[in-house]
Amino acid sequence: MTHPVEAIGLTFKIPLPDGRSLPRLAFCYAIAAASPALIDAGVAGAWKRIRRATVTEGRFDRLVLTHAHPDHIGAAQTVVRQTGAQVCAHADAIGWIEDTQAQKRARPVPGFDALVEGPVAVDVPLADGDVIDLGGATLRVLATPGHAEGHIALHCPEAEALFSGDAIPEPRAMPIYTDLAATLRSLRALRAVGGVRTLYSSWEPPIAGGEAIAARFDAAVEWLEFIHAAVRRAASKAGASDGMALTQATMGELGLPPFAANPLTAATVRAHVPYLDRAAIAVEDIG
Ligand SMILES: [Zn+2]
Repeated sequence: MTHPVEAIGLTFKIPLPDGRSLPRLAFCYAIAAASPALIDAGVAGAWKRIRRATVTEGRFDRLVLTHAHPDHIGAAQTVVRQTGAQVCAHADAIGWIEDTQAQKRARPVPGFDALVEGPVAVDVPLADGDVIDLGGATLRVLATPGHAEGHIALHCPEAEALFSGDAIPEPRAMPIYTDLAATLRSLRALRAVGGVRTLYSSWEPPIAGGEAIAARFDAAVEWLEFIHAAVRRAASKAGASDGMALTQATMGELGLPPFAANPLTAATVRAHVPYLDRAAIAVEDIG
């Protein structure tokens, strides 16, 4: 039997330095089971929408966080207060979940305090291979760093579902990862998971069917290769010593708007610098 999964799409805005704001969309997921679970908690205020999840009638025994970024932990405080859910996250993500101001200092996402209600305590530290038993359904933890330290994906075999968080880069969107080799290794690990009928990413609506899912993985790897070529072209023009100049040149090469050059994408570009002498970035070469 297929267990019901409800995709909860949450829209929000990230303020830009020039006074405009960037509309964003993030999905979190409700999983119906004897012990229902919520995967990720959206941004501050998202509980108003999450509580209307019909498959669990707003009841959650567990909140499983794929990673510590603001659009995944934003409403965690209210979720925990309203449901009493146990918070589960990878051990390497706990620092930024339990100390959100430390996260803000290290990774100053614009409008951080408007996106995140505050810290929550992690009750269950997770590691690769752990299995969370929801009663009639299970979630197997896949450590998938690269986009963020302590990032996890979750495989639910009973629902033939893979919840990939932010691990699969979205073509033509602002690229955000801090470790290129880890990003490629994580993509390979996710692709190797068998029996997946539906891919539930945080960045886009669910993708159904083996062919569509395989095409999505192909597109992600092609996008990473395209970014790598763009960083190499940018470095040949702007040099690699000034990180922000290299980031601005790279975003130009990618055809992204000027505001795409920011501290988050500077970290992405920096992740390519160790491999500038390589034309290819297949995981066999750099993983
Ligand atoms: Zn993220």
